[in-house]
Amino acid sequence: MPELAEVEHSRKQWDPGKNDVILDVDVARPEIRVFRGTDVPTLRDRLSGRRLLASEARGKQMLFQFSDGCWLGLHLGMSGELRREEQADYTPRKHDHLVLRQQKRALVFEDKRHFGRVRLHEGAEPPDWWQKLAPSILSKEFTLARLTAFVQRRRRTTIKAVLLMQEHFPGVGNWMADEILWRARIHPSTPAGNLDLAQTCGLWQQVRWVSRTAVRIISDDWTYPKTWLFAHRWEAGGQCPRCKTDLERAAIGGRTTCWCPECQRKQDAPTERATI
Ligand SMILES: [Zn+2]
Repeated sequence: MPELAEVEHSRKQWDPGKNDVILDVDVARPEIRVFRGTDVPTLRDRLSGRRLLASEARGKQMLFQFSDGCWLGLHLGMSGELRREEQADYTPRKHDHLVLRQQKRALVFEDKRHFGRVRLHEGAEPPDWWQKLAPSILSKEFTLARLTAFVQRRRRTTIKAVLLMQEHFPGVGNWMADEILWRARIHPSTPAGNLDLAQTCGLWQQVRWVSRTAVRIISDDWTYPKTWLFAHRWEAGGQCPRCKTDLERAAIGGRTTCWCPECQRKQDAPTERATI
């Protein structure tokens, strides 16, 4: 399941095609599920002759804007990705469901499992479904006040489960949530309402930092440094890269969660008294 950084990476694959005209649109199998609710002949007709102007991602949704009020919505589903092929006569592979041909390249949407989605919209404004989505956590609209309001509304829910709520934290998946909590030194089973102001502020900073840095790492060489929890969470007997304590794992928020029991102490545990 692609998380925020993978979606951003996919979105940028089509960037070199900006300002160029779509000369032709290939759809080999218009009957498959990714085109549900979309009339494929109309899609081909409307996109042909348009220029790609801009694109944006919000969580797992992407929107591509074309000239003359034409918009293409793409969702990667479980296994989708966008690619760019640098030859105009590119021969599509089996799961290349949508191929936009330009003079110098082909812009490809591939999806092996067909859980993704392709949508067309025509109009001066972006489609309604897009305007209802929460702003990207990479955008300046994702403020501390906004995060504080979400957390306050879910006081009894574990903070791990809150971070996985796509309507609040679009694109944050399981491993990103664990990385954020580890960096903010918050135990994943802490009820959201127990966070104090400093912890909430730290959480917001780490949500932003982990998302931004993951996007950069993925566009670079996909290698997460050893200083990240991510680099150790899958290892048998993995240790915290900060304090070398053995990592713990359990199901929290319905997902396998990994944390450091030393860096992320349970908050409801009695505090140890200093002894003389
Ligand atoms: Zn630790």
